[in-house]
Amino acid sequence: MKVLGLMRSVLSRAGLLVTLVVSLAAVGLVHAQQAQSGQAGGGEDAGLHVLPVRGNISMIVGAGANLAVSVGEEGVLLVDTGTGENADKVIELIRKLAPNKRLRYIINTNADPDHTGGNLKLGAIAQTVGGGNAGAGRTAIIAHENVLNRMSAPSGRESPTPSEAWPSDTYFGKGKKKELYLNDESIIIENGPAAHTDGDSTVYFRKSDVLVTGDVFTTVTYPVFDINRGGSINGYIDALNRIIDITVPKDKQEGGTYVIPGHGRLCDEADVVFDRDMATILRDRFANWIKQGWTLQQVKAANPVLDYDLRYGATSGPWTTDQFVEAVYADLSRTLAPAKAPAAGRTPASRTRPTTR
Ligand SMILES: [Zn+2]
Repeated sequence: MKVLGLMRSVLSRAGLLVTLVVSLAAVGLVHAQQAQSGQAGGGEDAGLHVLPVRGNISMIVGAGANLAVSVGEEGVLLVDTGTGENADKVIELIRKLAPNKRLRYIINTNADPDHTGGNLKLGAIAQTVGGGNAGAGRTAIIAHENVLNRMSAPSGRESPTPSEAWPSDTYFGKGKKKELYLNDESIIIENGPAAHTDGDSTVYFRKSDVLVTGDVFTTVTYPVFDINRGGSINGYIDALNRIIDITVPKDKQEGGTYVIPGHGRLCDEADVVFDRDMATILRDRFANWIKQGWTLQQVKAANPVLDYDLRYGATSGPWTTDQFVEAVYADLSRTLAPAKAPAAGRTPASRTRPTTR
């Protein structure tokens, strides 16, 4: 048992080292991108930051969720609209990025207010961005039908958002796709495995080779999933595996396809692999304990995510470590029944350190 404990401790330290190395590499990637954005004319704008990623695609940071924008001959496509209070800043920025171009499409990756809050104002600028009558009417807002279901309400009930902010062009069905072609580029909108919710879309710009994930993948917190809206930890892992299917690394697993997460910095496939491995390890750890009949209190007492807290942990903000732990426990408890009662003397209360350290 002592040897095992030592091995665990060494393994855990190795894990921490990997985390540090990956974090340092990430800082390098962001710095390289920032340098590139300076050269390419990006930078601060009214509190928003524009990061030219590749080809037609730029990333807009600071409006709530990360936004992605395609600017080209045919016009502008915007993935997500940020929070309502940032909408004017986003409009100002788009007018600067693409003067005299029409905002042709908005895509919502999920229904959350930090992704759809700007729909109302941004959906109305189609006719004014281009000037004249180039874009009469509202901009098409594309999303999976479950986004529309959450933003609207059955007739007779008050809807959570005004109808002008709702998606106007939905696609439906689990795992289905919608295709677009704009600015000389194929764009594939896909409802992958239900991860964050069952209405998430990823958006792949095929020529620029940039994948926008929405909250199916984020780098700043533990996986964010809502079990009341179809999300699950297993769906999150499946969705990341789907992203890993699409992305192609350039060299030694670095570079290649760029990945714009719902929140956090610009990534590549290696970052998604790290996140997938973290989610898988934690899922298996929780599943093992739930099968042994551990209560949520017992799981919490075992510091279940201590080895990842340095990178993903939070005690405040929209998605805390506690919320994540409770969500994983509730999610897996729905399907995993305890195989047998915990054996005497091996109850978690008797342990002073979590099994994984
Ligand atoms: Zn979000």
